[in-house]
Amino acid sequence: MKHRLVQSLVLALIAVSPAWAGPDDPCPPNAGAPQAPQGVHDAHPIAQQMTYEDLGSHHWNTGHADCRPAAARRPPMEIVQTDADTYVIRQNMCVAAEAPFMYLYCGTQKCVLMDTGDTSDPAAFPLRATIDRLLTARAAQNHLPQPALMVAHTHSHGDHVLADRQFAGRPNTVVVGHSPQDVQAAWHMPNWPDNGEANMDLGGRSLTAFPLPGHEDAHIAVYDNRSHDILTGDTLYPGRLYVSDAAQYRASVARLDAFVTNHEVRNVLGAHIELAANHTRAHPHDFPVGSSQHPGEHGLILQPHHVHDLARMVAAQQPPPDLQREVSDDFILDP
Ligand SMILES: [Zn+2]
Ligand SMILES: [Zn+2]
Repeated sequence: MKHRLVQSLVLALIAVSPAWAGPDDPCPPNAGAPQAPQGVHDAHPIAQQMTYEDLGSHHWNTGHADCRPAAARRPPMEIVQTDADTYVIRQNMCVAAEAPFMYLYCGTQKCVLMDTGDTSDPAAFPLRATIDRLLTARAAQNHLPQPALMVAHTHSHGDHVLADRQFAGRPNTVVVGHSPQDVQAAWHMPNWPDNGEANMDLGGRSLTAFPLPGHEDAHIAVYDNRSHDILTGDTLYPGRLYVSDAAQYRASVARLDAFVTNHEVRNVLGAHIELAANHTRAHPHDFPVGSSQHPGEHGLILQPHHVHDLARMVAAQQPPPDLQREVSDDFILDP
């Protein structure tokens, strides 16, 4: 209970920060959002607190058919805080139809932001300002100095890197480049793509990253050694799994499968949702590319067995290296 109170204090700090609604902020993240009633879970309209169990069934902002009204684009991102040190952020579907997810992991020394979304313009998508406020409030609450920040990426497609430029010149911040060489160097990976596992200490918490090319050349997976969740980006999520290099994708899925087999894994987290909750192999239901509304959307979280399912599917398709479209209950291989 105390833990929850501390969290709500952090959120209250964010809520009362005058910077949230300052006149020089063209688009405060909570503009237009309904004022939530005071309470432990919903005291602040910016970051909702919930456990990962709740996150699995959470209904995200499912967008609008007509994105022209300004209200449809606000708040520009939805933020869920899953513990004192972890945030899941999703871009508003009317700001960018890809509606990518971003993840912020913090330790006592350092935070890592995985992905920056599909919009560079801070007026439309104020990611930097939002991260600044989250980290400032968190540091004040925990009586810690501002953490170092690494802005990294699951991979280098535009919908995952476009707000990078908002972080240019930010103090004590590294923005990781977009090539496999940049990614390998930033994470101190010993090799690429095989035998590339590397640990990064955030202070009382560590992440393990390893190469996962195939959807895109610089793709990685990130495993949280504390929560036992693994971030699989665009390699595996409840949607259409696109492949740019089938041979690499096959090898990466096998690498991911081996990792999940050899480690305790709780949740598998991706970077998009493109399926409806009622999607099945027999009755596929995915939302068209570019749609700004996802009524009845599938949940974000997949399970370790989905990694095994994908690995079996990929291994069973012959002859390698080509892959064919195949529908599964919770994802669609769509090379
Ligand atoms: Zn991608
Ligand atoms: Zn993507």
